[in-house]
Amino acid sequence: MTKILDGVAIAAAIKQEVAEEVRALAALGVRPGMAAVLVGNVAASEIYVRSKVQSCAELGIYSDLIKPPATVTTEEILALVASLNARDEIDGILIQLPLPTQVDTKALLDAVSPAKDVDGFHPVNAGRLMAGRTALAPCTPAGIIEILKRSGIPISGQHAVVVGRSDIVGKPAAMLLLHQNATVTICHSKTRDLGAIIRQADILVAAIGRAGFITPEMVRPGATIIDVGMNRITDRGEFDRLFAGDAKREATFSKRGSTLVGDVHPKAFELAGAYTPVPGGVGKLTIAMLMANTVRAAKMRRGL
Ligand code: NDP
Repeated sequence: MTKILDGVAIAAAIKQEVAEEVRALAALGVRPGMAAVLVGNVAASEIYVRSKVQSCAELGIYSDLIKPPATVTTEEILALVASLNARDEIDGILIQLPLPTQVDTKALLDAVSPAKDVDGFHPVNAGRLMAGRTALAPCTPAGIIEILKRSGIPISGQHAVVVGRSDIVGKPAAMLLLHQNATVTICHSKTRDLGAIIRQADILVAAIGRAGFITPEMVRPGATIIDVGMNRITDRGEFDRLFAGDAKREATFSKRGSTLVGDVHPKAFELAGAYTPVPGGVGKLTIAMLMANTVRAAKMRRGL
């Protein structure tokens, strides 16, 4: 029978553990803190940042939300990051992406102190991850490993196929799986015979950004599917291709005019041994891991 890997429950368990760590640190007079930098008024970014700040409050982590205007220059925001690097009550600096086009995103991410880089995007942390000396790993890939481990899915010796090679998801996910002794194949838009490679996967990680791209013919029966994709679809034809006959989805789609779908076609999940649903899978882990990284950064900076 196909097992659904419940991201909501796993994220809740991680958050509970983080809250316990925060309480233990409070006994030592330490309160972890996170600064969230939200530039401009991008609706999706505002929602993400709000839930990050709210999670801090729930877990007892101090947070500071800083909202520079959409017209901010690279120099101004670099100065802001420098001040956050210097503030002792801030352990984690989160810069919500995407940034307006006039801002040099790379320069900004490079300016965050690696010790406070709770997103794990700084080249120093990427290098540490590569070298197997992970300090702060990117949150979504770290969440993938937590889902697999906490669900009792073996990783060692398994063939993991990661589709997508972004610096945020695909590459770090592949590296973390490798460190867990998986045999890892990374695929991307130039990969030949993609279906044939995906069909070899014991563990398939789909991080592509294309709704329902992985079809049932590509999936090896019994495989574990981790669907990282988060695609909001509004087109009726696309909806019918993916969800024809699904009354629950139909109700959501009719009411809201959109629905969230991963990179894996829902019919492909039926072949899986286990899979993460969208929504309710990997997405839930990202904020939980951000909280875990903030506490980790607080401890590392104090040598705890
Ligand atoms: P990117 O756009 O940065 O990367 C997408 C990757 O998919 C690229 O490496 C690209 O290859 C590859 N790709 C695109 N088309 C194809 C194709 N036809 N065949 C094979 N590979 C292809 O996306 P992200 O990594 O940032 O995000 C991926 C998905 O995960 C998105 O849906 C995003 O919304 C979601 N996401 C979810 C998060 C969560 O919390 N659950 C967090 C972050 C992302 P190439 O490099 O050759 O262009």
